[in-house]
Amino acid sequence: MTAGFPASALSGDGAAILRTALISHWADGLARAVYLPMSPRELRVFLRTAADQLIRAVAAEPPDLEAARGVGRRMVQTGLVADVVIPATTTALATHLPALARAHGSPAGDHATTLVLGAVFDGYVDAARRRVLAEQEAVRRAEAEARRQAEEAMRVSEARFRTIFTDAAVGIGIADLGGRIVDANQSFAAMLGYTVEEFCRLSVSDFVDPDDAQGMWEVYEEIIAGRRDVARMQKRYRHKDGHQVWTELTASLMRDRDGTPQFTVAMVEDITARRRLQEELRYQAVHDPLTQLPNRALFQERLSTAFATPGSRIGICYLDLDRFKIINDTLGHHVGDELLVLIARRLSDEVSARGHLAARMGGDEFVILVVDPPENALTELADSVLEALARPAHVLGHDLRVSASMGVVETRVEETTPADVLRAADATLYWAKAEGRNRWATFDAERNARELARYSLAATLVPALDAGEFAVHYQPIVDLGDGRIRGLEALVRWHHPNLGWLQPERFVDLAEETGAIVPLGRHVLQQACAQVARWNRGHPGDALFVSVNVAMRQTWEPGLVDDVGEALRASGLPGHLLQLELTESALLDPGGRAVEALTALADTDVRIAIDDFGTGYSNLGYLPRLPLHTLKLASGLVEGELLTDQSPFLSGLITFAHDLGLHVTAEGVETSSQAKRLRDTGCDTAQGWLFGRPATWPHLVREHLGPVAHTTAMSR
Ligand code: C2E
Ligand code: MG
Ligand code: MG
Repeated sequence: MTAGFPASALSGDGAAILRTALISHWADGLARAVYLPMSPRELRVFLRTAADQLIRAVAAEPPDLEAARGVGRRMVQTGLVADVVIPATTTALATHLPALARAHGSPAGDHATTLVLGAVFDGYVDAARRRVLAEQEAVRRAEAEARRQAEEAMRVSEARFRTIFTDAAVGIGIADLGGRIVDANQSFAAMLGYTVEEFCRLSVSDFVDPDDAQGMWEVYEEIIAGRRDVARMQKRYRHKDGHQVWTELTASLMRDRDGTPQFTVAMVEDITARRRLQEELRYQAVHDPLTQLPNRALFQERLSTAFATPGSRIGICYLDLDRFKIINDTLGHHVGDELLVLIARRLSDEVSARGHLAARMGGDEFVILVVDPPENALTELADSVLEALARPAHVLGHDLRVSASMGVVETRVEETTPADVLRAADATLYWAKAEGRNRWATFDAERNARELARYSLAATLVPALDAGEFAVHYQPIVDLGDGRIRGLEALVRWHHPNLGWLQPERFVDLAEETGAIVPLGRHVLQQACAQVARWNRGHPGDALFVSVNVAMRQTWEPGLVDDVGEALRASGLPGHLLQLELTESALLDPGGRAVEALTALADTDVRIAIDDFGTGYSNLGYLPRLPLHTLKLASGLVEGELLTDQSPFLSGLITFAHDLGLHVTAEGVETSSQAKRLRDTGCDTAQGWLFGRPATWPHLVREHLGPVAHTTAMSR
């Protein structure tokens, strides 16, 4: 052992120099190493300690080989294991240790050095071997741990996948690239009626639906070719027992490590029930719940499809039951409904058999769509449908007879739009109704255009009134005795911005239909009263009366009496200078509303005239019962044979009227011979082109009322 050999014993000058030389030599040798695990300073400290231990070891008697081995071991333990370590150590120790041994009085200098050097390398090699073993063991252990972990992860994921695969509610199947089933889960097999074992013996082609197969293989090929990763689609499969199974399929591709396609994986969900529900909902959405006929939505859909096919022609028969409302109102809606069901069945039998679509548009309206109708097919169809519908119908104990009217339109799709063709069919239906029902009418573009023009005119009536487009013209009413003008008939005119001057025949009926006649009539009344009152104020001796036409529709308005009163009050015209002209039909209005109004008006002194007498019923019987003042003979009576033959009829009529206290005015007097004869038969006054055409007020004043006096053809 080294005990009893203190370091200070080495401090003799010679020995110290040798020691330093050893350390330096050793350090320089080691410094050539590419890598040392310590700094140069730390290395010197280490080497100093090692050198001292070795000096002690070599100087000991016998040499302390265990200490030398310890130095070798520590070299390895501190990490001095580079290639240069052994040569550098050998050189440094072999060079300096013998001298140092001798300096310390070792008896066996060189021999001791050899022993010590050998022991250093023993220790070194031993430690190095241990170190390598330890490292190898660590690596082996780490590797084993890594493998264990990987295997565990694999096992877990495999187990997890298996669980998902086996227990999944969704069907999962794996097929090779030829379509052979490689694996499938219970859900997939059961979905199509197989056990998993049976299923795994099949190929995809064994259960795809033949109708569906084509598109499916294309997608399959795209997946295999790598052009798409996943495909999602709704697909039909064939169940083992033959029925169809609708599925939502997600197909994807499995590749190997190199990216080569290996398998296709299909995930399938059974959506048969959902599809059925969707189909049911879709059916309900496009069918009428009462009659089960296709509804308006489906009809529109088919019509649009037809319109999307260029060059095609379509025929539409729009039909409406005649007077269906009466059945509903008198027998009740349940009878009405049953009748509609029966009608729908007959319609469908006639139409569907020919491959056309029959739909219910609502209420008692139905429509037939014929795509590319052969010649005459539409009218033949219309005939047979109307005939079928007209057959006696036995409904809930009632024997009913119904008929229908039908509008028939045929057109090329390029010529119109779905909306317009329906409008045309609807308009044509109303022509059929107007022509007497239980018939069909075909569309007539010219007639339609005329009606459209009428409607658009009707629509602008009220705005035109506000815009001041209506003017009142006046026609003289002349005394047949002295030829003087006694009064004026007010006749309305429309100065239309685009169409120019319009006569009443163009718009008065329209105004009556729409009700616009009420404000229009009020306007004429106010204008005429104001105009004539103003004139009369300037000519007190020759006061004129004004005769204003009143339409039947106006007599229905409770405000008529007030309107008249207001016009008189505002203008200052006395009531007896206002005459209101009503036609016979207005007076005979079954509601009696006109008579009521007339009675009230007669109380205000206003005169009432029957206009155009002789064109309607010409019923004399009611004349005495009405509060009348004037009978206006229609121009037909004046120009006809009645007059030329000097028939006693006209003179009888005039006498009768006079007996009732009525004043008689003849209308439409165009010739002086007519005028003369009328005067001879006792007619009181007359109007007509002979005396003056209806004219504007200024024109009237210039021509007839001017300072030249009230000249007329009679007095001239
Ligand atoms: P009406 O009341 O019988 O008016 C007489 C019509 O005969 C006027 O036609 C007048 O221009 C025309 N006439 C006058 N003399 C002759 C003649 O010698 N020969 C011929 N062929 N015709 C003559 P107009 O102005 O076109 O009015 C037509 C109808 O329109 C009127 O018939 C009247 O029923 C209605 N009407 C005119 N203005 C109004 C009005 O302000 N209100 C209402 N409700 N109806 C009006
Ligand atoms: Mg008139
Ligand atoms: Mg008249």
